[in-house]
Amino acid sequence: TVKTRFAPSPTGFLHVGGARTALYSWLFAKHMGGEFVLRIEDTDIERSTQEAIDAIMEGMEWLELNWDEGPYYQTKRFDRYNEVVDQLLAEDKAYKCYCPKELLDEIREEQMAAGVKPRYDANHPKIIAANAAATADSPFCIRFRNPKEGTVIFDDKIRGHIEIANSELDDLIIRRTDGSPTYNFCVVIDDWDMGITQVVRGEDHINNTPRQINIYKALGAPVPEFAHCAMILGDDGAKLSKRHGAVGVMQYRDDGFLPHALLNYLVRLGWSHGDQEIFSLQEMIDCFTLESVSKSASAFNTDKLLWLNNHYIKTEAPEYVAKYLQWHLDQKQISIENGPAITEVITLVGERCNTLIELAEQSRYFYQDFSEFEAGAAKKHLRPVAKDALALALAKVEALDEWTTENLHAVTTQVCEELELGMGKVGMPLRVAVTGQGQSPSVDAVMQLIGKERVVARIKMALD
Ligand code: GLU
Repeated sequence: TVKTRFAPSPTGFLHVGGARTALYSWLFAKHMGGEFVLRIEDTDIERSTQEAIDAIMEGMEWLELNWDEGPYYQTKRFDRYNEVVDQLLAEDKAYKCYCPKELLDEIREEQMAAGVKPRYDANHPKIIAANAAATADSPFCIRFRNPKEGTVIFDDKIRGHIEIANSELDDLIIRRTDGSPTYNFCVVIDDWDMGITQVVRGEDHINNTPRQINIYKALGAPVPEFAHCAMILGDDGAKLSKRHGAVGVMQYRDDGFLPHALLNYLVRLGWSHGDQEIFSLQEMIDCFTLESVSKSASAFNTDKLLWLNNHYIKTEAPEYVAKYLQWHLDQKQISIENGPAITEVITLVGERCNTLIELAEQSRYFYQDFSEFEAGAAKKHLRPVAKDALALALAKVEALDEWTTENLHAVTTQVCEELELGMGKVGMPLRVAVTGQGQSPSVDAVMQLIGKERVVARIKMALD
């Protein structure tokens, strides 16, 4: 059965590129009815932090990329790595290398000076001499004996057929002098032990793949399939970086995006299915294949993300939007206890908002009274011209028995007719009076939701 994984190094938060890799890996597993594993690659102890681990998991949880297994931690698997190192040593598929770093640097410089691609060469006379001179307590690292002949061939699910001559690959260090195992080794043992069938990861690892395949083969382990995803670029064509603003997934939460919108954005960033733009999670799962992931880099487009976010705010169940809006309301200290159901506010106001920050701000007047009207809107619509319209509207509103949008609509129409005013001369002053601002959805619907008591008090305040 299919099993994929996401294997981040916890040296920072879950960024957009990582999130997309995780999504593709997760989608492929779901599409195949398989499982998805989370593995934390924390062998770089200097750079790995608990905060980064927490941030990565928080990002995945926020996106609801749930893992079926894990999280595994590489730092808890050192015994296993050492066991395999010992096995490879015993089989002479790996060897101790006593060559000190200074000598390697020296040989490297000679090679560069001679115009040769610098590489470790076990047959170099100086290396042979260094190994021969080693004593029992000389420090050593362990190198994998890479095959000298032949070619490593694999068919990348995204990039296609790839061939690398073994003569291009040197004897990889699998355990450092300090005893720590290296990435290219751990990743193979992990993917093997965890039964990973498809490795979906970033293109930056494509050069590691032939080396890893040789290790699988030496171990007699099944070689998984590989799929290397292209890079994500900023809107300016440069590699996506912090310079492009929000790159950590949780920053998108803070900036008012819905997880479903970000997922839809990420899935389309380098993958397509005809010309369809909007995908529910189930549609993504149903349609996703690695073969239709793009080989070329994709550029990040903030406008498209905003457009998608607006789409999701408009079309998701208001309960879903409410769940994520709540965080923003809390940030703005807007309590929704004293006012209409937030789901009704979302239904009314949501379509006008690209982000949940805007939506939270546009929800405010349903729950909080204000002591001032927005200056520009008040100057234009409230004083002194609107006195009559507002006074008449107030009288009619106060007299209403049934507080419905229809009745409130009738009130505004009647005020227009009786005072021979256009709708703008009545609707706008009312809007500014009851919302405090110059823009809102239909004023009848807004007044209905705000409620009679507040509407009456606010019109009175506008008349003062
Ligand atoms: N830990 C690696 C990274 O974060 C990923 C390794 C892999 O997916 O094989 O770049």
